[in-house]
Amino acid sequence: MKQVLILALLCTVGLCMPLGAQQLPGGTYQPNRERSYDLIHLAADLRIDWGAKKINGEATLRLRPLGALSRVSLDAYRMTILDVQQPSSSVPVKYSISEWALDIDFGRMLDPTDTVTILVRYATEPTAGLYFVHEVSGATQSPSIFTYGEGGINANWLPLYAAPNDKFTSEMTITVIRPFTALSNGRLLETRENADGTRTFHWRQELPHSDYLLALFVGEYVPIRLRPAFGTIPVTCWVPPGREQEGQEVFQRTPEMIEFFSNRFSYRYPWEKYDQVSAYDYAIGAMENTSITGHNDRILRKPGQASEFGPTFDSYTEPWSAEAIISHELAHHWFGDNTTYRSLASLWLNESFATLMMMLWDEHRLGKDDYEFQTWLALQAYLRYVQEEHIIRPLEYRYFDSRSEIYNEEHTYLKGAIVLDMLRWILGDDAFFQGMSAFLHKHEFANVESPDLKIALEESTGQNLSWFFDQWVYGGGHPIFEAETIYLPQLKKIKVTIKQVQPFVVGQGLFVLPIEIRVDAGGKTTRTKVWINNEEEEYLLEVPQEPDMVSIDGIGRLVSELRHAKGTSELVYQATHDDLSGRLWAIRKLVEHSASDPQVLETLKEIFASNVHWSLKAEGTLLLKNLESKAAEELLLAQLKSQDYHVRKAAVIALGSRFTSGSRSSLRSVIEKDRVDDVAATAIVALARVDPSISADYLKAQAEKKSWYDVRRIAVLQAIALLGRPELASLARDNVSDHYNYQVRSDALKAWAACSAGDPELATRLIDAARGEILPVREEAMALLGQLKIEQALPVLEELAARNGDSDVRNSARTAIDKILRGEIR
Ligand SMILES: [Zn+2]
Repeated sequence: MKQVLILALLCTVGLCMPLGAQQLPGGTYQPNRERSYDLIHLAADLRIDWGAKKINGEATLRLRPLGALSRVSLDAYRMTILDVQQPSSSVPVKYSISEWALDIDFGRMLDPTDTVTILVRYATEPTAGLYFVHEVSGATQSPSIFTYGEGGINANWLPLYAAPNDKFTSEMTITVIRPFTALSNGRLLETRENADGTRTFHWRQELPHSDYLLALFVGEYVPIRLRPAFGTIPVTCWVPPGREQEGQEVFQRTPEMIEFFSNRFSYRYPWEKYDQVSAYDYAIGAMENTSITGHNDRILRKPGQASEFGPTFDSYTEPWSAEAIISHELAHHWFGDNTTYRSLASLWLNESFATLMMMLWDEHRLGKDDYEFQTWLALQAYLRYVQEEHIIRPLEYRYFDSRSEIYNEEHTYLKGAIVLDMLRWILGDDAFFQGMSAFLHKHEFANVESPDLKIALEESTGQNLSWFFDQWVYGGGHPIFEAETIYLPQLKKIKVTIKQVQPFVVGQGLFVLPIEIRVDAGGKTTRTKVWINNEEEEYLLEVPQEPDMVSIDGIGRLVSELRHAKGTSELVYQATHDDLSGRLWAIRKLVEHSASDPQVLETLKEIFASNVHWSLKAEGTLLLKNLESKAAEELLLAQLKSQDYHVRKAAVIALGSRFTSGSRSSLRSVIEKDRVDDVAATAIVALARVDPSISADYLKAQAEKKSWYDVRRIAVLQAIALLGRPELASLARDNVSDHYNYQVRSDALKAWAACSAGDPELATRLIDAARGEILPVREEAMALLGQLKIEQALPVLEELAARNGDSDVRNSARTAIDKILRGEIR
């Protein structure tokens, strides 16, 4: 169960918290999994039965006991075990199976000097981990298979040790019918043509990795061979036939990324090759399987389309661009696949690093402003989450009940990345990257927890970093600074007072950290780094005259919030002169506090006309929604002509909040004419907001237009969900078929439910989807079954809650059951 921040006076026996106290989330304590053996090598030989969606396999596991033992237990979820042998021994092994494990009794005592090999013959119809997917596109049908292993769920199709804290080498032999290709980890040793017309692919990975990084992709894929990285590391992307050009466009920079990360961290990409597969309906946005990353095929796009991974219709950008997904997954090949979290509690050591590294790639390719914007965007997402959900989590934290709590994007990915950026700023680039390199070298191919990182950094830099780790890794929340600046003309000094006013977190102290104060006065800029050690600090800084601006952390390097009251003229100066983060902060404050002041509109106009990072123009455009005047609306409409699609998208979103005939006709024009599908799709959702009587025929016509990832259809379905008009139900229903990608199917269910919640056909469809669909559609279906309290779903949900091979699915089924049953009691 999640606990929320406690913002009121809370008293329990013997404990009184002051007003404004926060508590860290509750949940079950999750220790590292204990193991009794070391898995050394796993070899699997698999045959696929497409008709029955079954896998017939032979798994050979070589392992070494960690102590004296006569039995071992392998994770094997709901498998039919046909036979277990110990090939090198004449003594037959005994075994027993339960729903989740295969227990093997060797009939003799083994000790750590023994190495034993076990051969398991089995058959399985996986309910998770390995997915049979069927793409229907016009008259062509294309089946494929992909795997996804986080959360130990590869044990649904392979008997193994299903936790990250053991590493082993692996080997996969897969026999498939033509024309399919089977792709896996490591090097392709052999492709064999068989007498029965099938082909066998034999892959082997020589370097050890964890269970969740094993992968298998089977489908009709065309290879695009990119330039080998460093001239020696093969780099290939695999795309569906006919999509080669899009693959080339999107993945072209991968070899340069491999070289960049290798150089930045002074640690060369260690794996045999790097493959990327664009798989239809790949259910997890992307996955960093060792040397073979899986991507959802929506990553593919033609030149000129939006760069965001998307689709999203309520913001002009998001932290995840297609290229960011590519660099993030590649980055895991240093942090994640090489040094690997020991347990989920340390997941940030994978995810925050990969997220920081995607920002570093942007900095390398697009420049400093882009990096600063990415960190700002991550901070905004984190702050919004804390504000809305009232949950703060330390980065390393052992109290949780479900995987999704740890995979929280705003903390484990985004906050973690900017915490690392803050450390980069505090240590300086040389010490930071040397320290990270030392960490990688010291723990290569090993499992890690946060103390391993701290010690490696301390050994490398010579600094004591306890204070940093206590605050930012083991502690939750962030400081809120309240600043005040007073010019003292007689002294020619500026007095800066900074207070920490964040709610007190039980068990945590105040934050200690450096902060940069930038002062612009008399045409000169001075930057001073000061330390904040106490609840209230006062600094006297010399200035030649009254400053134009005092900017606190305008460089945006701290994970913090700032309250700093300023007059309009200083804000105008800051919006047009400060570093990027400071400028973004200032334009927000200007609109918030001085919306009716004509200077605000003039400042925005100046920004729109200047040569600045696009984010300032897009943010300024979005803020125009808060200015009521006719002149503001005219400026907003003019922004629809911007060359930058982010700015046009911001204008579209802003127009979606103005109920004027001007905004309706302009949005229709964007839908007809904008050459970027994502902008046109955003306009469809915006139009639904300001024109609730929009006709079904108009929506249907928009859905039918061909677009990247069918994004117009997705927008139409989201518009229908907003409108909720009963006569739109049939339009929603027509889109749940498997002719469409999973996002369409998922949004179609939601839209259908919004228009016709009591439709018995909807109930049947939702039950089918909960049982048979891939994860995102399944999750949506279960959420709707719970929300609509559909009682006839209970048997299917009970079965899922008890027996599905993915704990996330089991949790969602349980939540849906609870909601339905609560309805009965009432
Ligand atoms: Zn990741």
